[in-house]
Amino acid sequence: MKKALVCGAGGFIGGHLAKRLKEAGYWVRGVDIKENEYRKSFADDFRIGDLREPQFCQEICQDIRFDELYQLAADMGGAGYIFTGEHDAVVMHNSAMINLNMAEQARLTGIGKLFYSSSACIYPERIQMEVNNSGLKESDAYPAGPDSEYGWEKLFSERLYFSYMRNYGIDVKIARFHNIFGPYGTWRGGKEKAPAAICRKVAEAPENGSIEIWGDGEQTRTFLYIDECLEGILRLMQSDFSGPVNIGSDELISINGLARMVIGFSGKTLTLNHIAGPLGVRGRCSDNSLIYNKLGWRPAWPLVRGMKETYNWIYNETHRP
Ligand code: NAD
Repeated sequence: MKKALVCGAGGFIGGHLAKRLKEAGYWVRGVDIKENEYRKSFADDFRIGDLREPQFCQEICQDIRFDELYQLAADMGGAGYIFTGEHDAVVMHNSAMINLNMAEQARLTGIGKLFYSSSACIYPERIQMEVNNSGLKESDAYPAGPDSEYGWEKLFSERLYFSYMRNYGIDVKIARFHNIFGPYGTWRGGKEKAPAAICRKVAEAPENGSIEIWGDGEQTRTFLYIDECLEGILRLMQSDFSGPVNIGSDELISINGLARMVIGFSGKTLTLNHIAGPLGVRGRCSDNSLIYNKLGWRPAWPLVRGMKETYNWIYNETHRP
């Protein structure tokens, strides 16, 4: 039986990944600074601790010989957390510490394969100034120019893990996620991202009311449902390709369009109220040529399918007695 260590297993993607690895027959240890707020972990063993602490990282890696390490722990959030500038230092410090510690533990304990979750936020701001983004290719990353410190830290950590691959022979796989969404993710509190925030606003809005949208709402993104993200991770791990590779959808939609989609299947009549707020780049889309060429697969779920699942889950969360 293969053994996997999932860092960030108390979070959204890490929580789903632990479940998916269990279903695939793995023995799983999950690690996080907190448990998942919405459900019990599926991991065989769940350790609570701070991955910024080298001692804790040593403890979770040393008693078992892991075949695979999935490093998803990060200080992260949506635009309201990443783009205000207020959290720049903690975001960089916390995530860099986690990655430095885990790269070193992977080397010391001889972990065979390591997955690292990078982000579309590494791509340069200058090529995302238009709403009609034709797709960000992996090779667009350089010359570098991310629009957030979160993105710069991700770029640093991509390079960190690849340098460990070159110098110490660890088989590293890196994916750049583009806006992953789905049930059991953060939907309130300030760290939620656009799909969850819109679902919450619509679920809580009174009939004939309005929901707030940051900016003019014409900024565009692509959003990928969690199950497709997990499929991409597993396929990348089973391949002989290291990446970095985009794992994202190429179904471009504006924030207004996303809001109207959710309002449409909520059955309510609501208007959009545009207010000032942190925005990020003007247009961002995943180019999926590389993943298709290397893995013979690319995401295919239409956005509306995943959004319905997510809205139903968030609706139930907001209407809990
Ligand atoms: P998340 O916030 O739900 O999960 C991250 C987890 O890391 C959290 O549970 C958090 O408690 C944990 N963590 C943070 N600091 C820690 C520490 N010091 N010690 C131990 N655990 C710590 O986020 P997510 O959406 O599940 O994202 C997972 C990974 O994917 C992150 O690395 C994120 O940057 C990356 N990513 C996500 C998206 C997305 O759209 N969700 C997009 C691009 C990249």
